[in-house]
Amino acid sequence: MRAAVLHKIGQPLVIDDLPMPEPGPGEVLVRTKACGICATDLHILAGWGYQPRLPFVMGHEPAGVVHAVGACVTGFAPGDRVAPNIFYTCGNCRYCRTNRETLCTNLGGILGVLEHHGAYADYFKVPARQLFHLPAHVSFADGAVIADAVVCAMHALKQRARLYPGDWVLVIGLGGVGLSVLQAARAAGAHVIAIDISEVKVTQARQMGVTALLFADSQEVAEQIRATTGGEGVDVVFDCHGSEQTIAQGVKALRKNGRLVIIGYTQETWPLAPQWLSRFELEIVGSRSGGRQDTVDAIDLVAGKQWQSIVSDFFPLEQINDALALLKSGKALGRIVITVDEG
Ligand SMILES: [Zn+2]
Ligand SMILES: [Zn+2]
Repeated sequence: MRAAVLHKIGQPLVIDDLPMPEPGPGEVLVRTKACGICATDLHILAGWGYQPRLPFVMGHEPAGVVHAVGACVTGFAPGDRVAPNIFYTCGNCRYCRTNRETLCTNLGGILGVLEHHGAYADYFKVPARQLFHLPAHVSFADGAVIADAVVCAMHALKQRARLYPGDWVLVIGLGGVGLSVLQAARAAGAHVIAIDISEVKVTQARQMGVTALLFADSQEVAEQIRATTGGEGVDVVFDCHGSEQTIAQGVKALRKNGRLVIIGYTQETWPLAPQWLSRFELEIVGSRSGGRQDTVDAIDLVAGKQWQSIVSDFFPLEQINDALALLKSGKALGRIVITVDEG
């Protein structure tokens, strides 16, 4: 089968011919239809964050069709349309047993990120316990972004932000995750303000009916946010970028007892001002992707009538390096998706 292989950090991926993966007991072999690309891929390529053993096949945001099932697999058959949860969890530790699967003590890897080859290939395999059916009316491209972008958004929103209807929300960064958070928060009954450094993305968000501002780490933007929220600030900030500037702006935007949820990350740090946290009882929490419950919620959101596709660009597998370059440029208006098999 064809696969885009990472042989060396900092080097372009190479399309190689690899043997077909064989589904073992409990595993399902999936023919890849589409796979989203994500900033985590750029981090891996740059050699920081997750460090899979090389050579490695990335691709952690796929959807496809079941090709074959291993022994003992029930509930899936060839031809089924599917999307995975990408975390290889143990199912037994205290975190797995309490619906906090991405914190699994015995994490066995992440599809396309760590230990397990991903879906920048004609086929990928995954344990059946991590696989979910995709409704017939959800396209493979929209189904692909569920595995990472939308799962991230649902986990941050439901498990970490504990959002209530009527809350004011600020979404910082309008990439794939930000656009998913924005829609999830609206569907949950929140008022949403979005900010981004890209004028085009801000305009696009306004067309989606959201109050959107151009990002700047400035008092002016903080005041605009306060004015929009009746002088109070927002209940929840979702920082989908995670730089010193965005965290600082996020904290400035919070109302008393507000909560900053950090989803995205960079290598930057932020000097913490304990005075602000204690005086205004602010909360800063992190959010890591999502478990199987979040995958179910994400599929429901994408299959719902309100969902607007976040996919902006398509590339065939052979042009994956161009797709990664577009992501790095910051010019894509939404998620970039690799189409692997359109037949
Ligand atoms: Zn990702
Ligand atoms: Zn576990």
